[in-house]
Amino acid sequence: MGSKPLVFVLLGPPGAGKGTQGDLLARRTGIRHISTGDLFRDAVCAQTPAGLRAEAYLESGELVPDEVVMQLVEEFITSRAGEHFCFDGFPRTRRQAEAFDALLAQLGIGVSNVIVIQVSDDIAMERLEGRGRSDDSPETVRQRLRVYHELTEPLIAYYRRRGVLREIDGSGDVESVATAIREAYEQAA
Ligand code: AMP
Repeated sequence: MGSKPLVFVLLGPPGAGKGTQGDLLARRTGIRHISTGDLFRDAVCAQTPAGLRAEAYLESGELVPDEVVMQLVEEFITSRAGEHFCFDGFPRTRRQAEAFDALLAQLGIGVSNVIVIQVSDDIAMERLEGRGRSDDSPETVRQRLRVYHELTEPLIAYYRRRGVLREIDGSGDVESVATAIREAYEQAA
């Protein structure tokens, strides 16, 4: 494995399987998986300042303001410099992507791979409704999908222009998606 820290980003709608795939990749390769959604859910539970600011956004399916997200991410990665990272659910807006580039540049690294896990809205809805998280009510799920298409999907073009994008069909079984992601990892490592 090369010495330069890898930065993987898993992109895709809610319900695409980013969390499952991030966990699997971490278990199988040792890359550190970071879900900003998990960080926020933990912060809400612990009632930290970030959690208190984020709570209403999570419940309604809206995005937490960019500066709150960036502070959380910055704290997370600067305290773990030198590790390989796999982000899931971040970045989610153009401003986050640009701030992320600037942050990584300060550390002398950049985004190595962006993997888009593509699933249709119908499949996403079906999977999320079966999951039962508190922000998985049909109304909130619809809102999260709307937010994804409006604010996050444009990042596909942003990263495609940079030549770091790979698109994967996420409608298949967990292992076939995991294999495709693992291939991208092996090529980058
Ligand atoms: P997730 O677990 O990735 O589906 O995220 C759950 C919720 O956390 C989202 O609906 C947002 O309210 C919030 N969230 C997670 N990551 C971000 C992010 N990068 N930017 C803004 N809000 C986020």
